[in-house]
Amino acid sequence: MNSNPYKRKCCICKKPIEGTGHNPIPVWPTGRCCDKCHTTYVLPARYRLIAIREELEKTEQDDTDKNNQ
Ligand SMILES: [Zn+2]
Repeated sequence: MNSNPYKRKCCICKKPIEGTGHNPIPVWPTGRCCDKCHTTYVLPARYRLIAIREELEKTEQDDTDKNNQ
C-alpha cells in the first residue's frame, strides 16, 4: 500500500483531500478524489454511465424480442 491516509491527494486535481475522500471511479481507476471533483466529475459521469447502460439494456431486450418472433 502506498497511500498514506493522513496525506491523501485528490487523484484528479492533485489537491490535498479533507476527510476520507471519495471513490473516483469511473473518472479515475485508482486512489481517492476530493469532494469537489466527486461532485463536479464523478457523479455526472456515473449518471451518464447509468443512462448508457439503460439504453444498452433496452437494445438487448429489443434484440431478444426479435429473436423470439
Ligand atoms: Zn479534486
